[in-house]
Amino acid sequence: MIEPVIVRAATGAAAPLVLDSPHSGTVYPADFRPACAPSLLRQAEDAYVDELWGAAPAMGVAIVAAAFPRAYIDPNRSLEDMDPELLDAPWPGPVAPGDKTNRGIGLIWRLVNASHPIYDRKLTVAEVQGRIDRCWRPYHAALDRTLDEAQSRFGTVWHIDCHSMQSRGNRLSVDGPAARRADFVLGDRDGTTCAPAFTRFIAERVAAMGYSVKVNDPYKGVEIVRRHGRPQDGRHSLQIELSRALYMDEESHARGPGFAKLQADLAALTRDILGFIGKQQ
Ligand SMILES: [Zn+2]
Repeated sequence: MIEPVIVRAATGAAAPLVLDSPHSGTVYPADFRPACAPSLLRQAEDAYVDELWGAAPAMGVAIVAAAFPRAYIDPNRSLEDMDPELLDAPWPGPVAPGDKTNRGIGLIWRLVNASHPIYDRKLTVAEVQGRIDRCWRPYHAALDRTLDEAQSRFGTVWHIDCHSMQSRGNRLSVDGPAARRADFVLGDRDGTTCAPAFTRFIAERVAAMGYSVKVNDPYKGVEIVRRHGRPQDGRHSLQIELSRALYMDEESHARGPGFAKLQADLAALTRDILGFIGKQQ
């Protein structure tokens, strides 16, 4: 396997803003051995998200991105969010499966698109431990290091956890199968992971660009913003979900006609966010 995590360092003057893209990886490890079709597995990817935000490093903003795919192991889950049903033996560590695991999308996914089993076998404890050690831990170590460096330099650090979502809900999603989602969904776990002014500023900027935007509906943010969002300690973390309908064909995975416009708008948004941050320091 190649390096599991890609860190695009800031190439301009460093800024107290860090991005991460945990779900855009596309390098499928040989030991994955899924039973379902590759085209289905790819539905789990937050396709192209690192590229959509790709203007950031030249503005002094580092991006941490996973190279491994989310269907292999999900960095936006805690290590306890383990599905015992997937394993051929009891897990040796603490297990606290949450709501995501019950819906088949815990640390190691059981289902893709809410209905298709990924495996036709049980996974061994050793292979899951290998995924944690080769992918989950290096991802968190790289993100921790990048945020720590920015915070030690600037005192305060602002972090955006970047994702994309299917434009409609499905059978098992919290919003149900009929829901048409907003273009942007911002998640700050009900105002707990960053200064409310940060969420508000971005919501207003995105709306001014002509996009529909919702906050904490249906996505509030999961493990990554929960781990890092400590506004009282000067660490602000916000999740941003982009609707895939804005930039890609959700079935074929081809880039759509809106790709370049969204990429340019995210570059402008990054610049605006740096302006906001400059006023807070
Ligand atoms: Zn995601």
